Amino acid sequence: MDARLNADAAELAKFSELAHRWWDPDSEFRPLHQINPLRLGWIESLAGPLRGRAVLDVGCGGGILAEAMARQGGDVLGIDLADKPLKVAQLHALEQQVANVRYRAVSAEALADEQPGTFDVVTCMEMLEHVPDPASIVNACARLVKPGGWVMFSTLNRNPKAFLFAIVGAEYVLRLLPRGTHEYRKFIRPSELAGWARQAGLDVRALRGLTYNPLTQRYALASDTSVNYLMATQRGQG
Ligand code: SAH
Repeated sequence: MDARLNADAAELAKFSELAHRWWDPDSEFRPLHQINPLRLGWIESLAGPLRGRAVLDVGCGGGILAEAMARQGGDVLGIDLADKPLKVAQLHALEQQVANVRYRAVSAEALADEQPGTFDVVTCMEMLEHVPDPASIVNACARLVKPGGWVMFSTLNRNPKAFLFAIVGAEYVLRLLPRGTHEYRKFIRPSELAGWARQAGLDVRALRGLTYNPLTQRYALASDTSVNYLMATQRGQG
């Protein structure tokens, strides 16, 4: 792998190993399947209907969000640097006959050099906490979106409660995720993400928490951003 690439080879290998189970709703990817309708609704509630709009999903993995956005009528490109999840995503879209989604193995930074200011909406979900330099991804997303367009992020907050819930709870007690899925020191406080966004020319428009109730086994959008959260940003018109 190119040493200049902003990617962690061990992280990419981890997602490639699990890729064949990506669309199994009872697999390691169950949480992504469960949160998908919530985040899709949240994206459209802010950015407006995706129908007919150019959408980029950065770190798309097996395509759970990318394909759903294409079903909403978006013209979607999904990018990732792990090969197997991309193949799974492509195959699934073919099987499901979702035509308006394409997938490419390219970094966000390289795509931003290649086609800046191209997309109406850029999403980057559950990905920033897996990369060496998340600020560089945020910057690339800002370059990829059109002036006035939306960039939506989601990641994990960094504080003792997030450690307890996202690592101890999710990986050890409830076993929602395989052990070692997340590394605490890579978690990102909303203030840090907001700072990178502003530096890149993105205005923060909304911040929303995503909570999990272990009794009902359901996720919900909430005001509590202490563990999982979503941040909506918009590029200035200038
Ligand atoms: N965004 C998807 C998948 C999240 S899993 C969803 O929310 O449904 C995290 C994904 O980030 C994996 O597919 C992994 O391969 C990808 N990833 C990790 N580092 C990356 C990098 N540097 N560039 C692009 N994708 C990366």
